[in-house]
Amino acid sequence: MLERRTKIVATLGPATDPAGILDGLIAAGVDCMRLNCSHGTPDELSRRARDARAAAARAGRPLALLFDLQGPKLRLSAATPVRKVERGERVVFVGAGSPTAAADGSVVVDFPDFAVLATERSELVIGDGVPRFAVEHVGPGEVVARALTPGAMSPRKGINVTYARPNLPAITDKDAADLALAAEEGADFVALSFVRSAADVEDLRDRLRALGSPARTIAKIEKVEAYSRLDEILEVADGVMVARGDYGVEAGVARVPLMQKDTIFRAVQHGKLVITATQMLESMIHAPEPTRAEAADVANAVIDGTSAVMLSAETGVGEYPVEAVRAMAEIARVAEEAPEIHGRARGQAGDTPAGLVAHAAVQLAEALGAAALVVPTSTGGGARTCSKYRRRRPVIALAHELHVANQLAVEWGVYPTSIDVAGSVEELVEAALLTARDYAHLPSGSQVVITAGRRTGTPGATSLIMVRELP
Ligand code: PGA
Ligand code: MN
Repeated sequence: MLERRTKIVATLGPATDPAGILDGLIAAGVDCMRLNCSHGTPDELSRRARDARAAAARAGRPLALLFDLQGPKLRLSAATPVRKVERGERVVFVGAGSPTAAADGSVVVDFPDFAVLATERSELVIGDGVPRFAVEHVGPGEVVARALTPGAMSPRKGINVTYARPNLPAITDKDAADLALAAEEGADFVALSFVRSAADVEDLRDRLRALGSPARTIAKIEKVEAYSRLDEILEVADGVMVARGDYGVEAGVARVPLMQKDTIFRAVQHGKLVITATQMLESMIHAPEPTRAEAADVANAVIDGTSAVMLSAETGVGEYPVEAVRAMAEIARVAEEAPEIHGRARGQAGDTPAGLVAHAAVQLAEALGAAALVVPTSTGGGARTCSKYRRRRPVIALAHELHVANQLAVEWGVYPTSIDVAGSVEELVEAALLTARDYAHLPSGSQVVITAGRRTGTPGATSLIMVRELP
């Protein structure tokens, strides 16, 4: 169980619906299941969420459930004629409902105020990246653009606008409905697509709290604006996703690798969750083995210290969902032998007393070569602080609440389970040692470092460090 530190997120979809597949994914090493709200009906999302919870219960281990909101995604209208665009061609884009639309051959985008969004600095990017247009002129109700690259246009293709004016809502009506569903299904995390600023994440967090949901927030870094404001976003979000698909569309694929490395580095420094996503084992949608390039890609994200690596279509609609998870787990496990992880990726020492105690506990466990760090935790904060230093000792987190255990499942090097809060600190420590031993199958007599608060069940009160042998 304590073999792999980097966690695995798998997207659910039609390919994971047949009986036994979810159990197979968990057995192969999935720590978090993702429901992509861009696909599937509310009923399908609910059913998959419940099936995931049931499979985790059968496996007897915590599992994080992540709802991924579509966000303000723009598309070409359903009536868009299929056609090729040549390099240098001029195309006029208009918003839905524009009176000039159909007649003059302009392209309609399914957002009424489309022309208000674009600026003369913007590029318009269709589908997965081609054709790409430079905006030449923004007139009343229309955007005139010239094709930088050739490509095809067709109905319902996505369209990304770089450097757009902030006229799109961060959370659309569809997102609000999906958010209510996520709260109802007890989501542990909610990710928001096309985040532009910290305010977008605050909006998400406020809505979750209003719904009574304890879900943690994940900002998807997939717009140039979001990456340029990464520090302010890292201040407010609980985590970020390196969303390489749309970032590649917006910024160009050549800019993805450096953005990925820098985002992972800064997220780890901030002690925030970071998920590296999209096309990690893309060829496994149709093949039982990954390519060498994909193995190197997963390994590099792991060596840079990503908290988790994600599978999208590979599990959601692929032919080999379980094999993809198995391959990812094996690549990650071997890559973690690289010594660089523990140097390159390392969080900054905290400045609160509890943060400094956690830092000292991590160093002590490392110096002793302890079998594990045992961390009873009420909010999960203590375990997350231990995780951010990316050291080798496994962190066995004992959460007082089930949703906290589920949330910790996706943190690097953290192995969570639940524990009842005992009356006194002494009782809590003894119960924690027993639970940790049994849950992680550690032999009696193993040396561990345990942290605790003077008052049990109080967040941020961690002040004790003990070196103990397991009973
Ligand atoms: P998506 O987000 O799969 O929801 O588009 C991830 C990405 O863009 O990489
Ligand atoms: Mn995306």
